[in-house]
Amino acid sequence: MNNKEFLRKIPKVDGILEHRDWKELVAEYPEGLAKDALRAIIESVRLAIKTGETTSVPSISEIVRDAKKTLIEWMSPRLKRVVNGTGVIVHTNLGRSLLADEAIGAIVNAASHYTNLEYDLEKGVRGSRYDHCTAVLKRLTGAESALVVNNNAGAVFLILNTLAEGKEVVISRGELVEIGGSFRIPDVMKKSGAVLREVGTTNRTHKEDYEGAINQETGLLMKAHTSNYKIKGFTHDVMVEELVPLGRQYGVPTYFDAGSGLLFPFQLMTVCDEPLVPTELAKGLDVISFSGDKLPGAPQAGIILGRKSFIDAMKKNPLTRALRPDKLTIAGLESTLLLYLDRERAKKAIPTLRMIHEDTNVLRRKAQWMVKQVRTRCPSLAADVTRLDSEVGGGSLPDVVIPSFGVGLKPRDMTVQSFETRLRGLEVPIVGRIEKDVFLLDMRTIRKDELDFLVQGIESVLQDGE
Ligand SMILES: *Cc1c(COP(=O)(O)O)cnc(C)c1O
Repeated sequence: MNNKEFLRKIPKVDGILEHRDWKELVAEYPEGLAKDALRAIIESVRLAIKTGETTSVPSISEIVRDAKKTLIEWMSPRLKRVVNGTGVIVHTNLGRSLLADEAIGAIVNAASHYTNLEYDLEKGVRGSRYDHCTAVLKRLTGAESALVVNNNAGAVFLILNTLAEGKEVVISRGELVEIGGSFRIPDVMKKSGAVLREVGTTNRTHKEDYEGAINQETGLLMKAHTSNYKIKGFTHDVMVEELVPLGRQYGVPTYFDAGSGLLFPFQLMTVCDEPLVPTELAKGLDVISFSGDKLPGAPQAGIILGRKSFIDAMKKNPLTRALRPDKLTIAGLESTLLLYLDRERAKKAIPTLRMIHEDTNVLRRKAQWMVKQVRTRCPSLAADVTRLDSEVGGGSLPDVVIPSFGVGLKPRDMTVQSFETRLRGLEVPIVGRIEKDVFLLDMRTIRKDELDFLVQGIESVLQDGE
């Protein structure tokens, strides 16, 4: 048979529409969409025959079955839950921070009911959505005023546009960072209408470099936290405590993009230099900004703190309307920030903080439990408790490794690559990493109530392979 004859043998649409299987399908799914799926399947069969990829013509039942698969895929959300076995706590690709139960409750509440989002309950008149997080942010950081926008990239943009449009922004060459996802300080600055005035060299910048660049056109002195990398060796940075007096002397505002935004110091960070927001602010900065969903462990947001006059100017900027956070963000952020009023509670209730502080003995026990389960239930899999290093991630604390425990898995009847691929293809995908031909799952980012489920997933991908 040649291609043409095969093509002719493909069941006709009319015949399919009369078939019992099709009728069953459209009893369950919307007919229009089902027909689209059917056309897509028939088209792909035709293509496969034309290109010589296949020479077998599917039956009606097979076509309908494939159309159903396509339909199910079209009708299921693409955004799925996954199990994070990478040990990277603030994993940007996996959605950064998980929220505290209190924040989840607040989000559900705001989603299901009307709220006083922009309504002043005391006066019975229009209020501002920007007021909700202000009180708690001021209390936590000592800031004069606060403004929450969509994310920190938006915050940087808004700050530059409000304070330095058409003016020069002095910043160290060593701080012209790219954060990832195409966020580069020089590009954002250009779009904001500010003019980049880089000073110093990649590894060394001094106070005199900043001072020498100040002129009539200067609108802002800026510092950016080099979140995701470190320059080591012969280096010098201009500290906030040097920048602030310089700004005062020349009447130029100072701004620090702090990146992650640590709100109080953690024990494990004795050697780290992640900026502490309240401490930096107390040095006299005019404006500081950071992300809500990195170390704070809150929803995605850009948090701007600083002098009231500058924050007020930002609120008046029409850009703010385009960057405003929605009610779900405000609800989740405010309730997360409220937890910070009691630090011990925050460390337990906010998943990002809880994972960072989780005791390694607890993680070892989780790994031991899992290894035991896997060994009994999956004889074709070698499993061992493994010492690992977790990372905070999200460009936070690039130097800090947190000792952790995980399980190392190695299947006997398939390659570790195909094992990893299958785990990623599960209904609830399991994401880990391969190192030296072993699949690793770090227990620090895996919840206790996910363990059973994890073992089941592992068992199921091995069974399919046998
Ligand atoms: C992460 C980061 C940003 C971007 O923040 P988003 O909340 O992801 O928009 C900006 N600046 C620095 C220094 C960062 O670390």
